This record gives sequence, structure tokens and C-alpha cells, in this order.
Amino acid sequence: MIMIPFAPPRIDQAIIDEVVAALKSGWITTGPRTKEFEKRLTAYCGNKSTLCLNSATAGLEIMLRWFGVGEGDEVILPAYTYSATANVVVHCGARPVLVDIGSDFNMNVANIKAAVTSKTKVIMPVDFAGLPCDYDAVLSVVNDPAVKNIFVPATKEQSKLGRILILSDAAHSVGANYKNKKTGALTDVSVFSFHAVKNLTTAEGGAIALNLPEPFDNDEVYKFLCVYTLHGQNKDALAKMQKGNWKYDIIEAGYKCNMTDLCAAIGLVELARYDSDMLVKRKLICDTYFNYFKQFDWAELPVLKDASRETSYHLFPLRIKGITESMRDEIMKRIFDKDVSVNVHFIPLPMLSYYKNMGFNISDYPVAYDTFAREITLPVFYDLTDEQLKMVCN
Ligand SMILES: *Cc1c(COP(=O)(O)O)cnc(C)c1O
Repeated sequence: MIMIPFAPPRIDQAIIDEVVAALKSGWITTGPRTKEFEKRLTAYCGNKSTLCLNSATAGLEIMLRWFGVGEGDEVILPAYTYSATANVVVHCGARPVLVDIGSDFNMNVANIKAAVTSKTKVIMPVDFAGLPCDYDAVLSVVNDPAVKNIFVPATKEQSKLGRILILSDAAHSVGANYKNKKTGALTDVSVFSFHAVKNLTTAEGGAIALNLPEPFDNDEVYKFLCVYTLHGQNKDALAKMQKGNWKYDIIEAGYKCNMTDLCAAIGLVELARYDSDMLVKRKLICDTYFNYFKQFDWAELPVLKDASRETSYHLFPLRIKGITESMRDEIMKRIFDKDVSVNVHFIPLPMLSYYKNMGFNISDYPVAYDTFAREITLPVFYDLTDEQLKMVCN
């Protein structure tokens, strides 16, 4: 019996052909394919402007730095996320403030409100498994006069916004909906991941979906970020290639995290068939799990769709009622013994050495711990066959 993998990427002839075309085009780094991918992502999501980068992690950190987050500042994020969400806050010299989640795996809005202080600069909601957070509720927290009054702007961008920035970690949720809008267009800024295990891949990659309110000019922010993520150089490689156009200036001590056209080639093919094919298949798999497991009293099923939102079907996080962490580990071991790959999303940050050493204690996050202890994520990927799907259910 061959092992059923957890989430291999979909690599077919169309992907291979487009990457080969990029290789043969003579332009392999940031260029026409990356710019086209950005335009199509903007059109797909309905946000204002989109910048592609080499990872979601880079996108999150760049936006924290753009907003001027640093020493003495606090950033609120869930205890239940991948470490990237918190690591970027640490990189900037700010303090991550972890809050507990609700039963839908997403940050609990009442907990966000309780965590706000005069040092809070950014809230980073995570659309866990692809299910969007309640962005109207998060927006009402940052717009609450009592919260706005204690906001202390320290940079031009912070003054311009006049409130806490909502920076969504939308690594899981490309294509998800909230109140008839897609992620990317739901809040100030959303960052997507195109890592190999994500719904829409470019092997490695990410995108910053800008959707900043007035008086921000999102195209101007986009132009600044292009420079900021490419050494602070005022001309990119393609512009410098134009005849005689060799002179450049460095206007910032910029970063280096641009997307290559080889990666964008994969993304263009993925995006073109994302709604009509990838999401259809992922929905079918998740609906199959949902309809199968609902017959069992012990199964606690994830929200795939409710009155205001629909997931991107990135993960199927099943929870088992009334079990302990060690029982969960034993169940997983037995599933692996049947050659089915499963996973746990995620080990809460307060349980990881670095964050434990920073002083976080998992006993302060009872929902995150209980969720983690009883969670098993089932395989969801494009090439999962009907036979494999039955096997996983069994
Ligand atoms: C995958 C992931 C990231 C990081 O994405 P990269 O593109 O690998 O940087 C961030 N946050 C969450 C919740 C993720 O699952």
C-alpha cells in the first residue's frame, strides 16, 4: 500500500509548460509574468493593488516595517497560528501579544479588545484553515472611540491611518468569502502565502494585497513597496535593462524579497483555474469528510460555510470530543500505521521553546490548548482520488 500523502502540490503539464516558457523567454527574475500575476490577483480578489514577494513571511514583515512597528510597540495575534505570524513581530523589535481563539479556530474578538493598550500598533488576524475572521467585528474594535483615543501615532503612516492597522495573515484563505467579498478586499492589508503546501502555489511565494482606506493611495504604496523590497533601488532589473537606462539610485536601505518570473509562471496557471477547478475539488473533499464524519457523536466538525463566510477549503481540521493530547497522538499513530498522512495545525505558540522562554504560558490559552490537544488535520489536495478519500474516512 502506498502512503497517502498530506498535501502534495499539483504539478501537471500545464504548469511545466508555463515554467519552461518562462525559462525560454530570457527573463527569469521579476518581470512581465510577476506583474501580470499581480494584476490578475488584484482583479480576482477585488482589492486595490497587489505586490508579489518570495513568501508570506516577507510580506507580513515588510508591512509591519512600512507601518513603522518597532521597539516599544505591541502587535496582537492569535496564540494558535504558525510561528511566522509571531516571528516577524519579533524581527521588528516589537512585542507579540498573544490572545486565545474561539471555537472556529480564529481569534476571539472580545479577547482582542481586552488586549489593546496604548502601545498596540497592529492586529494580525489569521484566517485559520481558510475561514475568514469576522472582519467587521475586528474593524469595530479599531474604530471604537475609546480604542482610537489611546492610539499614539509615531510615524507618518500611523498618523495617516489614525488607528490600529489590521494586517491579515491570509496565508490559508485565498479565494475565501466574507459577506460577498473575497479575502484581500476584506481589510486594510492581507498577506497570502503561495508556499508549496498552500491552496495556490508558486513553489515559494506570497503576496501583499493592499486595500488601505482613504486618504492612502494604494498605487503609491505599491510603488514604494516595489522599491523597498528590492534593495531600495529606484529601478528594477527590467527597467535597468532598457537601452541606456543603467543609472540607479538607492533611496532606502531596502530588503530583497521579490518574486521571480519562474514562480509567477506557476502562479498564473494556478490562478487561471483556481475557482473552476482547484476550489471545486477541495470543496468536494472537505464536503465528503464533513458528510461522512457528521454521523459520529465523537466528531467535532469545522465550519466550512455559515451565514456570512465560506472557507477556501485549505485544511480540514477535525476535532475529537473528550480526548486528551496523548490519546490524540495515539490515534494519529494508528492512522499513520494505515498509511494515511495526517497533521496537527498548529502547536500553539506558548508551547514552543522560544515563546515559552519569552514568558508565555499555555495555561493562559485554554481554548488553544484544548483545540490543539483534540485536533487532527486530514489530507486535502487536488490529486486525492475517490479511493484514497474512502480510505482516509475509514
Ligand atoms: C504558511 C503560513 C505562513 C507563512 O507562509 P510563507 O509563504 O511560507 O512565508 C504564515 N502564516 C500561516 C498561518 C501559514 O500557514
